[in-house]
Amino acid sequence: MIFHRSFLQNLLNKHSVGLILLVLPLLSIAQATKKRDNRKINITLLQINDVYEISPLDSGRSGGLARVATIRKQLQKQNPNTYTLLAGDFISPSAIGTLRYDDKNRISGRQMVSVLNATGVDLVTFGNHEFDNSVEDLQRCIDSSKFQWLSANVKPLYASGHFIKDFRGKREPIPEVYIKKFTDADGTTVSVGFIGLTLETKAGEKYVFYEDYIKRAGKAIDSLKKKKCNIIIALTHLSQSQDSTLAQHYPQLSMIIGGHEHVAWDSTVNGVLIVKADANVKTVYKHFLTHDKYRGVTFIRSELQKITDSIPDDPETKRIVDRWNSKASELVEKQVKSPPCTIVAQLHQTFDGTEASVRTKPTLLTMAIGKAMLKAIPDSLGRAHFALYNSGSVRIDDSLKGAVKIYDLFRVLPFNGNLRVDTLTGSVILRLLDTSVNNPKDGCFLQTDGSIQYDDIAKRWTLAGKPINPADTFYVAISDYLADGLQQKMEFMGTENKRKGKVITDLMTALINYFKTEYPARESGNGKDIIPCY
Ligand SMILES: [Zn+2]
Repeated sequence: MIFHRSFLQNLLNKHSVGLILLVLPLLSIAQATKKRDNRKINITLLQINDVYEISPLDSGRSGGLARVATIRKQLQKQNPNTYTLLAGDFISPSAIGTLRYDDKNRISGRQMVSVLNATGVDLVTFGNHEFDNSVEDLQRCIDSSKFQWLSANVKPLYASGHFIKDFRGKREPIPEVYIKKFTDADGTTVSVGFIGLTLETKAGEKYVFYEDYIKRAGKAIDSLKKKKCNIIIALTHLSQSQDSTLAQHYPQLSMIIGGHEHVAWDSTVNGVLIVKADANVKTVYKHFLTHDKYRGVTFIRSELQKITDSIPDDPETKRIVDRWNSKASELVEKQVKSPPCTIVAQLHQTFDGTEASVRTKPTLLTMAIGKAMLKAIPDSLGRAHFALYNSGSVRIDDSLKGAVKIYDLFRVLPFNGNLRVDTLTGSVILRLLDTSVNNPKDGCFLQTDGSIQYDDIAKRWTLAGKPINPADTFYVAISDYLADGLQQKMEFMGTENKRKGKVITDLMTALINYFKTEYPARESGNGKDIIPCY
Protein backbone atom coordinates (compact mmCIF):
# COMPACT_ATOMS: atom_id res chain seq x y z
CA MET A 1 0.00 0.00 0.00
CA ILE A 2 1.33 3.42 -0.84
CA PHE A 3 0.16 6.88 -0.01
CA HIS A 4 -0.29 9.00 -3.06
CA ARG A 5 0.94 12.54 -3.33
CA SER A 6 -2.62 13.85 -3.14
CA PHE A 7 -2.94 12.39 0.32
CA LEU A 8 0.28 14.03 1.46
CA GLN A 9 -0.75 17.28 -0.15
CA ASN A 10 -4.13 17.10 1.47
CA LEU A 11 -2.50 16.60 4.85
CA LEU A 12 -1.08 20.05 4.43
CA ASN A 13 -4.36 21.75 3.72
CA LYS A 14 -7.04 22.45 6.25
CA HIS A 15 -9.54 19.92 4.89
CA SER A 16 -7.56 16.82 5.66
CA VAL A 17 -6.23 18.12 8.93
CA GLY A 18 -9.89 18.67 9.69
CA LEU A 19 -10.59 15.09 8.72
CA ILE A 20 -8.00 13.65 11.07
CA LEU A 21 -9.23 15.75 13.97
CA LEU A 22 -12.77 14.79 13.08
CA VAL A 23 -12.34 11.04 12.78
CA LEU A 24 -11.03 10.48 16.31
CA PRO A 25 -13.92 12.13 18.18
CA LEU A 26 -16.32 10.54 15.68
CA LEU A 27 -15.37 7.03 16.74
CA SER A 28 -15.91 7.75 20.43
CA ILE A 29 -19.20 9.54 19.80
CA ALA A 30 -20.43 6.60 17.75
CA GLN A 31 -19.51 4.18 20.52
CA ALA A 32 -21.11 6.24 23.28
CA THR A 33 -24.34 7.11 21.48
CA LYS A 34 -25.07 4.02 19.44
CA LYS A 35 -27.97 4.36 17.04
CA ARG A 36 -28.32 8.13 17.42
CA ASP A 37 -27.88 10.07 14.22
CA ASN A 38 -24.67 12.02 14.70
CA ARG A 39 -25.19 13.73 11.32
CA LYS A 40 -21.82 12.48 10.10
CA ILE A 41 -21.29 9.68 7.61
CA ASN A 42 -18.31 7.91 6.04
CA ILE A 43 -18.40 6.67 2.45
CA THR A 44 -15.69 4.75 0.62
CA LEU A 45 -15.38 5.10 -3.15
CA LEU A 46 -13.26 2.57 -5.03
CA GLN A 47 -12.13 3.98 -8.39
CA ILE A 48 -10.85 2.13 -11.46
CA ASN A 49 -10.48 3.48 -15.01
CA ASP A 50 -9.22 2.36 -18.44
CA VAL A 51 -9.38 -1.40 -17.90
CA TYR A 52 -8.78 -3.57 -20.97
CA GLU A 53 -7.32 -6.76 -19.48
CA ILE A 54 -9.23 -9.19 -17.30
CA SER A 55 -5.99 -10.90 -16.19
CA PRO A 56 -2.89 -9.46 -14.49
CA LEU A 57 -0.02 -8.06 -16.60
CA ASP A 58 3.75 -8.25 -16.19
CA SER A 59 3.78 -12.08 -15.96
CA GLY A 60 1.09 -11.96 -13.32
CA ARG A 61 2.79 -9.45 -11.03
CA SER A 62 0.61 -6.38 -11.65
CA GLY A 63 -3.11 -5.66 -12.05
CA GLY A 64 -5.89 -8.26 -12.28
CA LEU A 65 -9.61 -7.75 -11.67
CA ALA A 66 -9.90 -10.77 -9.34
CA ARG A 67 -7.52 -8.92 -6.97
CA VAL A 68 -9.58 -5.73 -7.26
CA ALA A 69 -12.62 -7.80 -6.23
CA THR A 70 -10.72 -8.79 -3.07
CA ILE A 71 -9.91 -5.13 -2.30
CA ARG A 72 -13.56 -4.25 -2.80
CA LYS A 73 -14.70 -6.94 -0.38
CA GLN A 74 -12.15 -5.76 2.21
CA LEU A 75 -13.34 -2.17 1.91
CA GLN A 76 -16.94 -3.29 2.17
CA LYS A 77 -16.15 -5.13 5.39
CA GLN A 78 -14.62 -1.95 6.84
CA ASN A 79 -17.52 0.18 5.63
CA PRO A 80 -20.71 -1.22 4.07
CA ASN A 81 -21.10 2.17 2.37
CA THR A 82 -18.51 1.26 -0.25
CA TYR A 83 -19.29 2.11 -3.86
CA THR A 84 -17.23 1.06 -6.88
CA LEU A 85 -16.84 3.39 -9.88
CA LEU A 86 -15.37 2.86 -13.34
CA ALA A 87 -14.45 6.05 -15.23
CA GLY A 88 -14.76 4.67 -18.76
CA ASP A 89 -12.80 2.63 -21.34
CA PHE A 90 -13.32 -1.06 -20.70
CA ILE A 91 -15.26 -2.64 -23.57
CA SER A 92 -12.44 -2.24 -26.07
CA PRO A 93 -9.72 -2.76 -27.15
CA SER A 94 -8.33 -6.08 -25.98
CA ALA A 95 -6.86 -9.16 -27.55
CA ILE A 96 -9.74 -11.29 -26.24
CA GLY A 97 -12.36 -8.83 -27.48
CA THR A 98 -11.12 -9.04 -31.08
CA LEU A 99 -11.49 -12.83 -31.22
CA ARG A 100 -14.36 -14.19 -33.28
CA TYR A 101 -16.58 -16.68 -31.50
CA ASP A 102 -18.46 -17.49 -34.70
CA ASP A 103 -18.25 -16.50 -38.37
CA LYS A 104 -19.86 -13.13 -37.82
CA ASN A 105 -19.33 -11.97 -34.26
CA ARG A 106 -16.36 -10.97 -32.18
CA ILE A 107 -16.35 -11.25 -28.37
CA SER A 108 -16.28 -7.41 -28.36
CA GLY A 109 -16.13 -6.68 -24.65
CA ARG A 110 -18.52 -9.38 -23.40
CA GLN A 111 -15.63 -10.92 -21.43
CA MET A 112 -15.05 -7.62 -19.64
CA VAL A 113 -18.71 -7.02 -18.72
CA SER A 114 -18.97 -10.54 -17.37
CA VAL A 115 -15.81 -10.13 -15.23
CA LEU A 116 -16.85 -6.65 -14.04
CA ASN A 117 -20.24 -8.08 -13.03
CA ALA A 118 -18.35 -10.54 -10.82
CA THR A 119 -15.94 -7.89 -9.52
CA GLY A 120 -18.87 -5.85 -8.23
CA VAL A 121 -18.70 -2.54 -10.10
CA ASP A 122 -21.62 -0.22 -9.24
CA LEU A 123 -21.48 2.75 -11.61
CA VAL A 124 -19.76 3.44 -14.96
CA THR A 125 -19.60 6.16 -17.55
CA PHE A 126 -18.69 5.85 -21.22
CA GLY A 127 -15.08 6.16 -22.36
CA ASN A 128 -14.22 6.82 -26.00
CA HIS A 129 -13.37 3.13 -26.48
CA GLU A 130 -16.92 2.08 -25.57
CA PHE A 131 -17.76 3.22 -29.13
CA ASP A 132 -15.05 1.23 -30.96
CA ASN A 133 -17.43 -1.61 -31.79
CA SER A 134 -20.76 -1.67 -33.57
CA VAL A 135 -23.80 -0.24 -31.82
CA GLU A 136 -25.22 -3.78 -31.63
CA ASP A 137 -22.11 -4.98 -29.78
CA LEU A 138 -22.24 -1.99 -27.43
CA GLN A 139 -25.93 -2.64 -26.75
CA ARG A 140 -25.23 -6.29 -25.90
CA CYS A 141 -22.61 -5.13 -23.39
CA ILE A 142 -24.94 -2.58 -21.82
CA ASP A 143 -27.81 -5.08 -21.61
CA SER A 144 -25.73 -7.79 -19.96
CA SER A 145 -24.17 -5.49 -17.36
CA LYS A 146 -25.35 -5.60 -13.75
CA PHE A 147 -23.98 -2.12 -13.08
CA GLN A 148 -25.54 1.32 -13.58
CA TRP A 149 -24.47 3.38 -16.65
CA LEU A 150 -24.46 7.17 -16.61
CA SER A 151 -23.92 9.98 -19.14
CA ALA A 152 -24.93 13.62 -19.37
CA ASN A 153 -23.41 14.39 -22.76
CA VAL A 154 -23.38 11.22 -24.88
CA LYS A 155 -26.56 10.48 -26.83
CA PRO A 156 -27.51 8.07 -29.61
CA LEU A 157 -27.73 9.50 -33.13
CA TYR A 158 -30.36 7.00 -34.28
CA ALA A 159 -33.03 7.91 -31.72
CA SER A 160 -34.05 10.88 -29.65
CA GLY A 161 -33.27 10.78 -25.96
CA HIS A 162 -30.84 8.44 -24.27
CA PHE A 163 -29.18 5.10 -24.79
CA ILE A 164 -31.41 2.39 -23.34
CA LYS A 165 -30.44 -0.47 -21.09
CA ASP A 166 -32.61 -3.56 -21.43
CA PHE A 167 -31.68 -5.83 -18.53
CA ARG A 168 -33.79 -9.01 -18.61
CA GLY A 169 -36.71 -7.21 -20.21
CA LYS A 170 -36.57 -4.15 -17.93
CA ARG A 171 -35.96 -1.18 -20.25
CA GLU A 172 -34.45 1.93 -18.69
CA PRO A 173 -32.80 4.98 -20.23
CA ILE A 174 -29.17 5.62 -19.26
CA PRO A 175 -29.65 8.70 -17.09
CA GLU A 176 -27.82 12.04 -17.18
CA VAL A 177 -27.46 12.09 -13.40
CA TYR A 178 -27.62 9.35 -10.82
CA ILE A 179 -28.33 9.74 -7.12
CA LYS A 180 -27.11 7.18 -4.61
CA LYS A 181 -28.40 7.40 -1.04
CA PHE A 182 -26.18 6.10 1.74
CA THR A 183 -27.27 5.39 5.33
CA ASP A 184 -24.93 4.45 8.17
CA ALA A 185 -25.45 2.43 11.35
CA ASP A 186 -26.66 5.40 13.42
CA GLY A 187 -29.12 6.45 10.72
CA THR A 188 -27.28 9.36 9.09
CA THR A 189 -28.27 9.59 5.45
CA VAL A 190 -26.58 11.37 2.60
CA SER A 191 -27.42 11.77 -1.10
CA VAL A 192 -24.51 11.62 -3.50
CA GLY A 193 -25.25 12.90 -7.00
CA PHE A 194 -23.13 11.64 -9.89
CA ILE A 195 -22.69 13.18 -13.36
CA GLY A 196 -21.15 11.22 -16.26
CA LEU A 197 -19.15 13.07 -18.95
CA THR A 198 -17.15 11.82 -21.94
CA LEU A 199 -14.73 13.53 -24.33
CA GLU A 200 -15.67 13.81 -27.98
CA THR A 201 -13.73 11.64 -30.43
CA LYS A 202 -14.45 10.14 -33.83
CA ALA A 203 -15.16 6.79 -32.18
CA GLY A 204 -18.68 5.62 -32.88
CA GLU A 205 -19.40 8.66 -35.04
CA LYS A 206 -21.98 6.65 -36.96
CA TYR A 207 -24.20 6.27 -33.92
CA VAL A 208 -23.09 8.69 -31.18
CA PHE A 209 -23.23 12.42 -30.79
CA TYR A 210 -21.55 14.39 -28.07
CA GLU A 211 -23.08 17.44 -26.44
CA ASP A 212 -20.96 20.22 -24.94
CA TYR A 213 -19.69 18.70 -21.70
CA ILE A 214 -19.43 22.04 -19.86
CA LYS A 215 -23.03 23.01 -20.65
CA ARG A 216 -24.39 19.54 -19.83
CA ALA A 217 -22.45 19.49 -16.55
CA GLY A 218 -24.04 22.83 -15.58
CA LYS A 219 -27.57 21.49 -16.24
CA ALA A 220 -26.78 18.27 -14.37
CA ILE A 221 -25.41 20.12 -11.32
CA ASP A 222 -28.55 22.32 -11.22
CA SER A 223 -30.81 19.28 -11.27
CA LEU A 224 -28.79 17.53 -8.52
CA LYS A 225 -28.92 20.70 -6.39
CA LYS A 226 -32.70 20.83 -6.81
CA LYS A 227 -32.86 17.22 -5.64
CA LYS A 228 -30.93 18.26 -2.52
CA CYS A 229 -27.79 16.19 -3.06
CA ASN A 230 -25.25 16.70 -0.29
CA ILE A 231 -22.27 15.70 -2.42
CA ILE A 232 -21.85 16.10 -6.21
CA ILE A 233 -19.21 14.05 -8.03
CA ALA A 234 -18.33 14.06 -11.73
CA LEU A 235 -17.42 10.63 -13.10
CA THR A 236 -15.58 11.57 -16.28
CA HIS A 237 -13.65 10.25 -19.22
CA LEU A 238 -12.13 13.57 -20.34
CA SER A 239 -8.61 14.80 -21.00
CA GLN A 240 -6.68 16.30 -18.07
CA SER A 241 -7.14 19.80 -19.47
CA GLN A 242 -10.90 19.23 -19.94
CA ASP A 243 -11.22 17.97 -16.36
CA SER A 244 -9.36 21.09 -15.20
CA THR A 245 -11.71 23.32 -17.23
CA LEU A 246 -14.67 21.51 -15.66
CA ALA A 247 -13.26 22.25 -12.19
CA GLN A 248 -12.70 25.91 -13.14
CA HIS A 249 -16.37 26.22 -14.14
CA TYR A 250 -17.91 24.30 -11.25
CA PRO A 251 -16.21 24.65 -7.85
CA GLN A 252 -19.42 23.18 -6.36
CA LEU A 253 -18.19 19.71 -7.46
CA SER A 254 -16.80 17.73 -4.53
CA MET A 255 -14.41 15.85 -6.79
CA ILE A 256 -13.79 14.63 -10.34
CA ILE A 257 -13.15 10.92 -10.74
CA GLY A 258 -11.64 10.52 -14.20
CA GLY A 259 -9.69 8.44 -16.67
CA HIS A 260 -8.39 8.37 -20.24
CA GLU A 261 -4.62 9.10 -19.98
CA HIS A 262 -3.72 5.66 -18.54
CA VAL A 263 -1.23 7.08 -16.06
CA ALA A 264 -2.14 7.97 -12.45
CA TRP A 265 -2.62 11.68 -11.91
CA ASP A 266 -4.06 14.01 -9.33
CA SER A 267 -4.50 17.73 -9.18
CA THR A 268 -6.55 20.24 -7.26
CA VAL A 269 -8.06 22.92 -9.49
CA ASN A 270 -10.24 25.69 -8.09
CA GLY A 271 -10.53 23.65 -4.89
CA VAL A 272 -11.80 20.55 -6.76
CA LEU A 273 -9.78 17.34 -6.46
CA ILE A 274 -9.25 15.54 -9.81
CA VAL A 275 -7.99 11.95 -9.69
CA LYS A 276 -7.11 9.25 -12.23
CA ALA A 277 -5.63 5.80 -11.55
CA ASP A 278 -3.30 3.80 -13.82
CA ALA A 279 -4.77 1.77 -16.67
CA ASN A 280 -5.44 -1.97 -16.37
CA VAL A 281 -5.86 -1.70 -12.59
CA LYS A 282 -2.10 -1.51 -12.06
CA THR A 283 -3.39 0.84 -9.37
CA VAL A 284 -6.80 1.61 -7.90
CA TYR A 285 -7.86 4.73 -6.04
CA LYS A 286 -9.57 4.50 -2.67
CA HIS A 287 -11.38 7.67 -1.65
CA PHE A 288 -12.51 7.99 1.98
CA LEU A 289 -15.21 10.64 2.27
CA THR A 290 -16.59 11.99 5.52
CA HIS A 291 -19.64 14.17 5.16
CA ASP A 292 -20.60 16.46 8.03
CA LYS A 293 -24.27 17.39 7.67
CA TYR A 294 -24.10 20.03 10.44
CA ARG A 295 -21.58 22.03 8.53
CA GLY A 296 -22.45 20.84 5.04
CA VAL A 297 -18.83 19.94 4.30
CA THR A 298 -17.11 16.85 2.91
CA PHE A 299 -13.60 15.77 3.80
CA ILE A 300 -11.79 13.56 1.30
CA ARG A 301 -8.71 11.44 1.83
CA SER A 302 -7.47 9.62 -1.27
CA GLU A 303 -5.08 6.72 -1.45
CA LEU A 304 -3.61 5.19 -4.60
CA GLN A 305 -3.01 1.48 -4.11
CA LYS A 306 -0.81 -0.72 -6.30
CA ILE A 307 -2.44 -4.00 -7.32
CA THR A 308 0.25 -6.67 -7.02
CA ASP A 309 0.54 -10.42 -6.59
CA SER A 310 0.56 -9.93 -2.81
CA ILE A 311 -3.23 -9.45 -3.02
CA PRO A 312 -5.13 -12.78 -3.24
CA ASP A 313 -7.63 -13.39 -6.03
CA ASP A 314 -11.32 -13.30 -5.22
CA PRO A 315 -12.25 -16.92 -6.07
CA GLU A 316 -15.62 -16.15 -7.73
CA THR A 317 -14.15 -13.48 -9.99
CA LYS A 318 -11.13 -15.65 -10.77
CA ARG A 319 -13.44 -18.45 -11.91
CA ILE A 320 -15.08 -16.13 -14.47
CA VAL A 321 -11.67 -14.85 -15.64
CA ASP A 322 -10.44 -18.43 -16.11
CA ARG A 323 -13.53 -19.39 -18.06
CA TRP A 324 -12.97 -16.56 -20.55
CA ASN A 325 -9.27 -17.29 -20.82
CA SER A 326 -9.87 -20.91 -21.76
CA LYS A 327 -12.56 -19.93 -24.29
CA ALA A 328 -10.20 -17.31 -25.80
CA SER A 329 -7.37 -19.85 -25.95
CA GLU A 330 -9.49 -22.16 -28.09
CA LEU A 331 -10.36 -19.28 -30.41
CA VAL A 332 -6.74 -18.09 -30.81
CA GLU A 333 -5.68 -21.62 -31.65
CA LYS A 334 -8.41 -21.89 -34.27
CA GLN A 335 -7.36 -18.58 -35.84
CA VAL A 336 -3.57 -18.95 -36.03
CA LYS A 337 -3.49 -22.77 -36.22
CA SER A 338 -1.12 -23.02 -33.30
CA PRO A 339 -1.76 -22.96 -29.56
CA PRO A 340 -1.74 -19.41 -28.08
CA CYS A 341 1.21 -20.13 -25.82
CA THR A 342 3.42 -21.36 -28.69
CA ILE A 343 6.76 -19.58 -28.50
CA VAL A 344 7.53 -17.74 -31.76
CA ALA A 345 10.65 -15.80 -30.77
CA GLN A 346 13.32 -15.41 -28.13
CA LEU A 347 14.23 -11.85 -27.14
CA HIS A 348 17.45 -11.03 -25.30
CA GLN A 349 16.56 -7.40 -24.68
CA THR A 350 13.45 -5.75 -23.25
CA PHE A 351 10.99 -4.70 -25.94
CA ASP A 352 9.11 -1.95 -24.12
CA GLY A 353 5.39 -1.79 -24.91
CA THR A 354 4.19 0.13 -21.85
CA GLU A 355 1.74 2.96 -22.53
CA ALA A 356 3.96 5.62 -20.94
CA SER A 357 6.77 4.80 -23.40
CA VAL A 358 4.92 3.82 -26.56
CA ARG A 359 2.80 6.95 -26.64
CA THR A 360 5.72 9.36 -26.31
CA LYS A 361 8.89 7.83 -27.80
CA PRO A 362 10.24 5.04 -29.99
CA THR A 363 11.14 1.75 -28.27
CA LEU A 364 12.62 -1.53 -29.51
CA LEU A 365 9.08 -2.89 -29.79
CA THR A 366 7.67 0.05 -31.76
CA MET A 367 10.64 -0.01 -34.16
CA ALA A 368 10.28 -3.78 -34.56
CA ILE A 369 6.66 -3.26 -35.67
CA GLY A 370 7.86 -0.67 -38.22
CA LYS A 371 10.60 -2.98 -39.49
CA ALA A 372 8.09 -5.85 -39.69
CA MET A 373 5.87 -3.64 -41.88
CA LEU A 374 8.80 -2.89 -44.24
CA LYS A 375 9.82 -6.53 -44.39
CA ALA A 376 6.29 -7.71 -45.26
CA ILE A 377 6.32 -5.82 -48.56
CA PRO A 378 7.11 -8.22 -51.40
CA ASP A 379 10.16 -7.40 -53.57
CA SER A 380 7.92 -7.02 -56.61
CA LEU A 381 6.48 -3.81 -55.11
CA GLY A 382 9.89 -2.25 -54.44
CA ARG A 383 11.19 -0.98 -51.12
CA ALA A 384 9.19 1.47 -49.02
CA HIS A 385 11.17 4.44 -47.73
CA PHE A 386 9.95 4.01 -44.14
CA ALA A 387 7.06 2.73 -42.01
CA LEU A 388 4.53 4.87 -40.18
CA TYR A 389 1.70 3.97 -37.80
CA ASN A 390 -0.18 5.43 -34.83
CA SER A 391 1.13 4.47 -31.38
CA GLY A 392 -2.48 4.00 -30.21
CA SER A 393 -2.59 0.73 -32.14
CA VAL A 394 -0.07 -0.78 -29.67
CA ARG A 395 -2.14 -1.82 -26.68
CA ILE A 396 -0.12 -4.35 -24.71
CA ASP A 397 0.89 -1.91 -21.91
CA ASP A 398 3.57 -4.40 -20.96
CA SER A 399 7.10 -5.35 -21.98
CA LEU A 400 8.28 -8.36 -23.99
CA LYS A 401 11.44 -10.19 -22.98
CA GLY A 402 12.63 -13.77 -23.27
CA ALA A 403 10.19 -16.20 -24.86
CA VAL A 404 7.53 -14.43 -26.95
CA LYS A 405 4.29 -16.30 -27.48
CA ILE A 406 1.67 -15.97 -30.19
CA TYR A 407 -0.68 -14.52 -27.59
CA ASP A 408 1.83 -11.78 -26.66
CA LEU A 409 1.69 -10.56 -30.25
CA PHE A 410 -2.11 -10.66 -30.16
CA ARG A 411 -1.89 -8.35 -27.16
CA VAL A 412 0.51 -5.97 -28.95
CA LEU A 413 -1.85 -5.28 -31.86
CA PRO A 414 -5.38 -6.32 -30.88
CA PHE A 415 -6.97 -3.99 -33.47
CA ASN A 416 -4.80 -5.61 -36.11
CA GLY A 417 -5.37 -3.24 -39.02
CA ASN A 418 -4.02 -3.71 -42.51
CA LEU A 419 -0.69 -2.73 -44.03
CA ARG A 420 -0.54 -0.70 -47.25
CA VAL A 421 2.15 1.11 -49.22
CA ASP A 422 0.81 4.57 -50.01
CA THR A 423 2.54 7.36 -51.94
CA LEU A 424 2.74 10.51 -49.78
CA THR A 425 4.28 13.92 -50.37
CA GLY A 426 6.95 15.24 -48.04
CA SER A 427 4.61 18.04 -46.97
CA VAL A 428 1.90 15.61 -45.81
CA ILE A 429 4.54 13.55 -43.97
CA LEU A 430 5.91 16.68 -42.23
CA ARG A 431 2.40 17.70 -41.22
CA LEU A 432 1.85 14.24 -39.73
CA LEU A 433 5.15 14.31 -37.83
CA ASP A 434 4.57 17.81 -36.45
CA THR A 435 1.04 16.85 -35.34
CA SER A 436 2.52 13.74 -33.74
CA VAL A 437 5.05 15.50 -31.50
CA ASN A 438 2.68 18.36 -30.65
CA ASN A 439 -0.15 16.02 -29.59
CA PRO A 440 1.33 12.99 -27.89
CA LYS A 441 -1.96 12.15 -26.09
CA ASP A 442 -4.81 10.01 -27.47
CA GLY A 443 -2.45 7.77 -29.45
CA CYS A 444 -1.55 10.66 -31.81
CA PHE A 445 2.16 10.06 -31.36
CA LEU A 446 3.41 8.30 -34.49
CA GLN A 447 5.87 5.44 -34.58
CA THR A 448 8.24 4.47 -37.40
CA ASP A 449 10.81 1.77 -38.12
CA GLY A 450 13.40 4.08 -36.52
CA SER A 451 14.63 5.78 -39.68
CA ILE A 452 12.86 9.10 -39.05
CA GLN A 453 14.37 11.43 -36.48
CA TYR A 454 14.07 15.04 -35.40
CA ASP A 455 17.30 17.01 -35.77
CA ASP A 456 17.21 19.24 -32.70
CA ILE A 457 19.99 21.56 -33.86
CA ALA A 458 18.79 22.14 -37.41
CA LYS A 459 15.14 22.00 -36.20
CA ARG A 460 13.98 19.67 -38.95
CA TRP A 461 12.85 16.12 -39.62
CA THR A 462 15.25 13.72 -41.28
CA LEU A 463 14.87 10.37 -43.02
CA ALA A 464 18.00 8.21 -42.71
CA GLY A 465 19.92 11.36 -41.81
CA LYS A 466 18.70 13.48 -44.75
CA PRO A 467 16.15 16.31 -44.41
CA ILE A 468 12.63 15.51 -45.65
CA ASN A 469 11.86 17.77 -48.61
CA PRO A 470 8.17 18.84 -48.73
CA ALA A 471 8.11 18.57 -52.54
CA ASP A 472 9.45 14.98 -52.73
CA THR A 473 7.24 11.89 -52.82
CA PHE A 474 7.78 8.84 -50.64
CA TYR A 475 6.54 5.23 -50.58
CA VAL A 476 5.34 4.69 -47.06
CA ALA A 477 4.47 1.40 -45.36
CA ILE A 478 1.47 2.66 -43.43
CA SER A 479 -1.32 1.29 -41.26
CA ASP A 480 -4.70 1.77 -42.93
CA TYR A 481 -6.09 3.34 -39.73
CA LEU A 482 -3.64 6.23 -40.04
CA ALA A 483 -3.69 6.31 -43.85
CA ASP A 484 -7.49 6.68 -43.98
CA GLY A 485 -7.65 9.56 -41.48
CA LEU A 486 -9.19 7.65 -38.57
CA GLN A 487 -6.55 8.88 -36.12
CA GLN A 488 -7.71 11.86 -34.08
CA LYS A 489 -6.09 15.16 -35.14
CA MET A 490 -4.87 13.46 -38.35
CA GLU A 491 -8.23 13.33 -40.08
CA PHE A 492 -6.68 15.37 -42.93
CA MET A 493 -5.22 12.07 -44.18
CA GLY A 494 -8.73 11.16 -45.34
CA THR A 495 -8.54 13.91 -47.99
CA GLU A 496 -4.78 14.52 -48.39
CA ASN A 497 -3.79 10.90 -48.99
CA LYS A 498 -4.86 10.44 -52.61
CA ARG A 499 -2.60 7.66 -53.89
CA LYS A 500 -3.60 4.64 -51.89
CA GLY A 501 -1.89 1.31 -52.41
CA LYS A 502 -3.34 -2.19 -52.14
CA VAL A 503 -3.57 -4.06 -48.83
CA ILE A 504 -0.46 -6.23 -48.42
CA THR A 505 -1.22 -8.14 -45.24
CA ASP A 506 -2.48 -7.52 -41.72
CA LEU A 507 -0.12 -5.98 -39.18
CA MET A 508 -0.11 -8.95 -36.79
CA THR A 509 0.87 -11.47 -39.48
CA ALA A 510 3.70 -9.10 -40.47
CA LEU A 511 4.85 -8.92 -36.85
CA ILE A 512 4.67 -12.70 -36.23
CA ASN A 513 6.72 -13.39 -39.37
CA TYR A 514 9.29 -10.73 -38.49
CA PHE A 515 9.87 -12.01 -34.96
CA LYS A 516 10.03 -15.63 -36.19
CA THR A 517 12.85 -14.86 -38.63
CA GLU A 518 14.77 -12.16 -36.73
CA TYR A 519 14.68 -13.68 -33.24
CA PRO A 520 14.17 -17.42 -33.77
CA ALA A 521 13.33 -19.49 -30.70
CA ARG A 522 14.84 -22.92 -30.03
CA GLU A 523 11.81 -24.32 -28.21
CA SER A 524 8.20 -23.94 -29.16
CA GLY A 525 6.53 -23.94 -25.75
CA ASN A 526 5.93 -25.73 -22.49
CA GLY A 527 2.70 -27.38 -23.48
CA LYS A 528 0.58 -24.95 -21.45
CA ASP A 529 -2.01 -23.68 -23.86
CA ILE A 530 -4.25 -21.47 -21.76
CA ILE A 531 -3.81 -17.71 -21.92
CA PRO A 532 -2.38 -15.56 -20.37
CA CYS A 533 0.37 -18.23 -20.74
CA TYR A 534 2.08 -17.88 -17.34
ZN1 LIG B 1 -9.97 7.02 -23.31
